[in-house]
Amino acid sequence: MEDQILTQLGAALVHGSLTDEALLAQTDAQPALPILPDANVVKIGGQSLIDRGRAAVFPVIAEVVANLPQHKMIIGTGAGTRARHSYSVGLDLGMPTGVLSILGTYVSMQNARMLHYLLAKHGIPFIEPVQFPQLPLFLEERRAVVFFGMPPYLYWQPNPAVGRIPPNRTDTGAYLVSEVFGARSMIFVKDEDGLYTADPKKDHGAKFIPEITVQELEAMDLQDVVVEHSVLTFMKDAEHRRSIQVINGLKPGNLTRALNGEHVGTIITA
Ligand code: ADP
Ligand code: MG
Repeated sequence: MEDQILTQLGAALVHGSLTDEALLAQTDAQPALPILPDANVVKIGGQSLIDRGRAAVFPVIAEVVANLPQHKMIIGTGAGTRARHSYSVGLDLGMPTGVLSILGTYVSMQNARMLHYLLAKHGIPFIEPVQFPQLPLFLEERRAVVFFGMPPYLYWQPNPAVGRIPPNRTDTGAYLVSEVFGARSMIFVKDEDGLYTADPKKDHGAKFIPEITVQELEAMDLQDVVVEHSVLTFMKDAEHRRSIQVINGLKPGNLTRALNGEHVGTIITA
């Protein structure tokens, strides 16, 4: 019976050890399925964009709407300054990382709710993780959805190596959506032209880097980078999404150009 229903790999997995490296190496013999290959994941920054209010948000919303006929978009939101304030109060009260993760999730959800209401008249829904199975239908019917960028690790968020701030935040949550669905792109919309040799807000001599690999970036050992470190770590093991694009959402037209596949901003590749 077993021989008839199980492939050789199936039998090895059922009977073998899941820590056997040789066995694990066989598990990606079949390529991973690109589930939503024509959807673009767009992360709208919290501190970098949404916290700036209408001056920054309205033009991006207008650009999203203008692109609906051409591009499907899964729009994730950052958390930003209010999350940092929540973390500071939570830390003072002795909250562990998993609880801080919950606080950040709700702030990211506040931002998702607001973007969703701005897009509501275009029929674009806000979805929570439990609604992701309906994502194909929403994209087919309405072309876009808004979700909160925080990955739903909640209490299960692992502790960081240093300190207590959740290491997997909204950049990571958006990135993982693009990886698992085999999406067409992963575009981070922030407030700088892309990656620089240092934070351009603090170092006016910082040089712009139009493209770079994760390995090169790690070798540079920069003090600070434009995306969460977890994104770079996860990219190295990615099956689909081995490049990300970081653009300046304060400059009109950049999101459209990125959606059209143009090299605007910085492209980081694994
Ligand atoms: P988000 O709003 O999406 O959470 P963040 O504020 O966390 O975005 O990250 C974007 C910010 O990262 C930029 O506004 C910039 O000031 C800062 N930053 C730090 N290091 C760099 C760097 N090396 N290159 C570009 N930006 C950087
Ligand atoms: Mg951030």
